[in-house]
Amino acid sequence: VIDLFQAYPVLFAPIRPLPVVTMPLGDALFRTLARPVVCDIDYPPFDRSVMDGYAVRASDVARAPLNLTIIGRVAAGTESTEGLRAGTAMYVGTGAPIPTGADAVVRVEQTEIAADGREVRIRSSVLPGQFITPKASYARAGQIVLKAGQGLTPLEIAVAAAAGAATVTVYRRPTVAILSTGDELVDIGTVPKGAQIRNSNAVLLNAAVRAAHAEPLMLGTAKDDPAVIRAGIEAGLSADQLCITGGVSVGERDFVPRVLREMGAEFHIEKIKIKPGRPILFAGFPRGPLVFALPGNPVSAFVGFELLVRPALAALEGRPGRIPRPFPAVLRGSLPAAADRRTFWPAHATVQDDGQWCAEALPWGGSGDPFGMAGANALLTQPPHSPALQSGGSVSILLLERV
Ligand code: AMP
Ligand code: MG
Repeated sequence: VIDLFQAYPVLFAPIRPLPVVTMPLGDALFRTLARPVVCDIDYPPFDRSVMDGYAVRASDVARAPLNLTIIGRVAAGTESTEGLRAGTAMYVGTGAPIPTGADAVVRVEQTEIAADGREVRIRSSVLPGQFITPKASYARAGQIVLKAGQGLTPLEIAVAAAAGAATVTVYRRPTVAILSTGDELVDIGTVPKGAQIRNSNAVLLNAAVRAAHAEPLMLGTAKDDPAVIRAGIEAGLSADQLCITGGVSVGERDFVPRVLREMGAEFHIEKIKIKPGRPILFAGFPRGPLVFALPGNPVSAFVGFELLVRPALAALEGRPGRIPRPFPAVLRGSLPAAADRRTFWPAHATVQDDGQWCAEALPWGGSGDPFGMAGANALLTQPPHSPALQSGGSVSILLLERV
């Protein structure tokens, strides 16, 4: 039995990133770069106007107000052939190249047209360089603008696009085989009879895997029978990761650990000091998938996924070390005492007007109760043996991704 935060080095140690693929940038959202992105050009590629205004020589307008002769106009996307001489100005649009000879831009708001449009009145002086973005001031040709290991959100997609990376080399997405075990399980389209229970975990894990930007591979439901479980696991051996729920504890029909061992899996973690979710098993097949066997209770399965499976998927995809880090919040409502292990509760967290996070545990019947998870945007968590708390007490929370 290992402490949660001591489990992470053990979790990451056997994980190697998946092979890489090269793909169009537009398809690479939420992927992870396996190679850096290098800017192919100086950016901006030319001295560029930040404002709509008049390109001038700063020394010409030092004694403003005064008039300058307008000798031309440069819109974004055009280039002026003419240079600026003493006593002249050229209209420039935002994003237009600065004509040679000019060293500053006066904003259009600081000007007015004079002499029937042949001259512009400059109302105030400007410093050299004012409202000009010099060529290559944002990035130079050959400069690394995104490092390997960087995740691609819309922000980095824009960076890669500006850098000329029409294709990027990223890690392949992990495939995750999902196997449910339990004699009592029936599909969700069925009304359970007698001792049956709906298999909500298969759907939970399918959704959680997709939310983590990985690819689920559904293996169906196995009876609590070693041969059937073994056949299920064999069907998942081609995946990068295998997630099994149920049958992982100490019950007389909990066959999953035994079957995994018989099949030659190497066990890395056998139990973690958390509630819910203690009997979590993390193993791996030599030249085969990583294996997580999660307890069957839906909330245990979810907590195990968030705390361990999701960081493991990130590591497979080239983002190692994604350890969930709880941060402080103020409790709203009351909280029962924690167990002898780090304890988690589905919670709703908000930011108060003063910027302080506060969190409320949702009404919840325990690890077998899926319904208390609805609307949770956080897991409230307390260290082992934490006492019961009243409103205003100090707690820790982990935020969950939500829509
Ligand atoms: P187990 O981990 O097999 O001991 O199961 C613990 C509890 O979770 C039992 O009440 C099971 O009926 C329930 N359970 C197991 N698998 C699932 C599943 N796939 N969906 C919903 N509940 C499950
Ligand atoms: Mg069971």
